[in-house]
Amino acid sequence: MKIAFIGLGAMGFPMARHLSKHHQLIVWNRTRSKAERHASEHGTAAASELAECAAAEVIITMLPTSREVDEIVDKLMPDLRAGTLWIDATSGDPNVSRLTAVRLAARGVAFVDAPVTGATVGAENATLTIMVGGAPEDFARALPLLQICGKKIIHVGPVGAGHAIKVLTNSVMGATVWITCECLLLAKRFGIDIKTALEVTNAGSGRSNASENLLPMRLIEGKWPLVFKLLHHDKDIRIASTIAHQQHASTPMLALTQHLFTASLNQLGDQADYIEVAKVIAEMNNATWE
Ligand code: NDP
Repeated sequence: MKIAFIGLGAMGFPMARHLSKHHQLIVWNRTRSKAERHASEHGTAAASELAECAAAEVIITMLPTSREVDEIVDKLMPDLRAGTLWIDATSGDPNVSRLTAVRLAARGVAFVDAPVTGATVGAENATLTIMVGGAPEDFARALPLLQICGKKIIHVGPVGAGHAIKVLTNSVMGATVWITCECLLLAKRFGIDIKTALEVTNAGSGRSNASENLLPMRLIEGKWPLVFKLLHHDKDIRIASTIAHQQHASTPMLALTQHLFTASLNQLGDQADYIEVAKVIAEMNNATWE
């Protein structure tokens, strides 16, 4: 099958690599050198023009937000062919993706939103969990391709449902990271070693993905890799807040989490990793993690 993959960032680059082992891939990236590197390392074809992607049977986008996806849709629109399937793996905005799906449907192009969870390690190892919004027949078409990149693929509902659950689950993660860091710092102030506090947390009911996998490396070993931009995490929580607003829902914890992450982003900048909110929490307490 001929697939066009658009967006070779931290997530897209390895996902396109997995797909290229089974299908004919044409890749496009805003910074062309990444597409050329993908082509030379994985035998894909680097598109010289974005428009070349319109000839593919399936187009996959993995971009920062729905805004960039819509820009690409606009640019490809004149060349799109009826019968094409568009899979948007971006963690996008369900309100935007519903409108995008309608615009594409007018050209005979089917759309599913298929955001992923599992971080860069999941993308590298093809163990992502992928949540899909779309019509059942479009989900059925996307499934064999998504199974190449992920381990668990879940059809959540109609178009937009994938994007909605993605930002909601990331909001849970954000709140968990924040409260875990607050309490670990408090333990430290009380005189308990962070390593010991984490050991207890992970052996008890306070454990989470954050306490087990994300925080030990940063807080104990002092290693702060950039794996998921705080910029993207903040975007997810702000989309979740919009959903709450639209649903007339009372979600004070979500609102607080959004404000804390947005304030951290303003402080740390676009290139910070999301777990660096721990540094903001330390600063708020005139403390350090060392
Ligand atoms: P990156 O910042 O690593 O990559 C972003 C990609 O989008 C790059 O290919 C970049 O091109 C491209 N891009 C940015 N702006 C534009 C634009 N205006 N027009 C065209 N292309 C553009 O992001 P990630 O791969 O980390 O994230 C991608 C999506 O996946 C996000 O929605 C994120 O929330 C989600 N996600 C990320 C996870 C992670 O752990 N990193 C985990 C799960 C989901 P260029 O190379 O030129 O900059």
